[in-house]
Amino acid sequence: MKTIDLEKICEGAEKIGISGHVRPDGDCVGSCMALYLYLKKTVREADISVFLEKPAEIYNSLQGVDEIRTEAGEDEVFDVFFALDSSADRLGEAEKLFRQAKKKVNIDHHISNEQGCGDENYVIPAASSTSELVYKLMKKDKVDAEIAKAVYIGIIHDTGVFQYSNTSPETMRIGAELIAYGFDFPKLIEETFYEKSYVQNQILGRALLESVLFMDGRCIVSVVEKKTMDFYQVTPKDLDGIVNQIRNTKGVDCAIFLYQTGVLEYKVSMRSNEKVNVAEVAAFFGGGGHMRAAGCTMSGTYHDVINNLSLHIEKQFQKKD
Ligand code: AMP
Ligand code: MN
Ligand code: MN
Repeated sequence: MKTIDLEKICEGAEKIGISGHVRPDGDCVGSCMALYLYLKKTVREADISVFLEKPAEIYNSLQGVDEIRTEAGEDEVFDVFFALDSSADRLGEAEKLFRQAKKKVNIDHHISNEQGCGDENYVIPAASSTSELVYKLMKKDKVDAEIAKAVYIGIIHDTGVFQYSNTSPETMRIGAELIAYGFDFPKLIEETFYEKSYVQNQILGRALLESVLFMDGRCIVSVVEKKTMDFYQVTPKDLDGIVNQIRNTKGVDCAIFLYQTGVLEYKVSMRSNEKVNVAEVAAFFGGGGHMRAAGCTMSGTYHDVINNLSLHIEKQFQKKD
């Protein structure tokens, strides 16, 4: 069984860095904070920093989020640097810190990053989440309620609260171990996963209303343009979850959600239920992800983007039909 040894990796390290992907989601924030809290307890002599883009406010109840560094110093050299839930090229600001670190460690579950980008790699595409992997590397007698809560957040966000097909019996066993620490898990699920602000619900409504079925109802697409985001005063963080909602449409296998990130540029999120391997489609356009959830950034008009994606989605259907 492939594994890595956190204690050995961090032995003697004076400066440790942790980072995850740009536009951090629940698994990214959860795994980074869980590892941060754990290493602060177990490698007490080290100076430890977490680098991330500012997480959404829903994660504010996690211990240590106020210590996250959003900017990286040019010439900081770390003895050990962890890239979590990400390949090196999606670390944003922290990419240079990772690349110049004395020891690079990659913990991830993206099938598009199967080889790993570190000197030490723990990349398991079958795992529900990076948070689950980070938890498996921890000595259980060192885990406390705050660490458990961070791991739990990561798992619920990447599994849609233990619903998606990436949920394994082991994910459920770990979930059971985690809630035994006694944090308020129903509140955590409600506040970080289901609850939406008024404008988030409004823009979700717009996206649902304007969604379009195609390929005989097997695909659905919806787009939010920059001007609409400005009108509702929402940021990309407010659009999380829309793609899952349009995927719920009966008869649909593949859902595509786009939001505009620049002139002729869109962030693409794809989800599939059964047939389309969206990781392959996203990888073709320079992105990546998992079989059932993947993303990329594409250039062109909305119609260019949909036409280009459709060709590849159609091929996936042909393979499976
Ligand atoms: P999203 O649609 O952004 O929620 O992403 C779905 C999944 O695909 C997540 O696991 C992301 O980490 C991954 N993903 C999204 N965009 C990219 C990208 N450009 N490169 C690699 N993985 C991505
Ligand atoms: Mn992620
Ligand atoms: Mn993840």
